[in-house]
Amino acid sequence: MDTNKKLRNFYDQQIAEWPGLKDGITALEQVQEKWISLSGDNIQIQYNPLRKINVTAKVVDAVDSGSCFLCASQRPKEQRSISFEKSFLILCNPRPIFKEHFTIVHNDHRPQSLKGFFDTMKAIASKYTDYAVFYNGAKSGASAPFHLHFQMAPKAVFPICTAMGFENDFAGAGFSRELNNEKVNQDLLNVIVWSDTVKGLQTRVFKRKAHRPKCYFDNSFIVSPACVELGGVWVTVRAEDFEKADSEILKRVVSEVSV
Ligand SMILES: [Zn+2]
Repeated sequence: MDTNKKLRNFYDQQIAEWPGLKDGITALEQVQEKWISLSGDNIQIQYNPLRKINVTAKVVDAVDSGSCFLCASQRPKEQRSISFEKSFLILCNPRPIFKEHFTIVHNDHRPQSLKGFFDTMKAIASKYTDYAVFYNGAKSGASAPFHLHFQMAPKAVFPICTAMGFENDFAGAGFSRELNNEKVNQDLLNVIVWSDTVKGLQTRVFKRKAHRPKCYFDNSFIVSPACVELGGVWVTVRAEDFEKADSEILKRVVSEVSV
């Protein structure tokens, strides 16, 4: 059985045996969506009020392993895992944004940092070719900056992996050098890696200058951009924001948070 299929089967088994995950999937049926054009690309806007807790979460940097929700002792008892190499576990995310939304956690309670682990991201994307692997830096949308983790979801859900007109390369060689030489602030970073059927491994790097845009703080438009949004799926949590989301607002948000 191929690795993508094994992963899908694992997800289906977890839905069957873990009511918390089933509830998360059922909640997704309530999500409304619309599409807009942004610089020639089709971008999805979601209305998902259940994500409010994530979108408006305070950034917490220090949590010890005794109260970390990604550490083994605090994880739900029904949550099983698939190992990746020696140090990582693939888990189903009980508050999914998409069906088949996984969290990939390091075995140790150690801070979010990509240095030394970019190759791991690429290895995951090379193994699970139907999926995109993404990394949110500690100050760029990571929900648990205190515990190293990636996320993974079907690449078909990300406009960036399918239709968005990026010419760029690349297996991320230049970025890898920047990361190793500490020429990039890895707290202010979003990275998405996937295997393109034709072009091979693709990396898209978003360097950030802010975690959240001005409109978040003046309460006029609540979004908290991270990989999912920059990959082309904007999650809104208030009906009014879903209604008014358009290319002009999103362009402004992107320019305010991006380098
Ligand atoms: Zn932890």
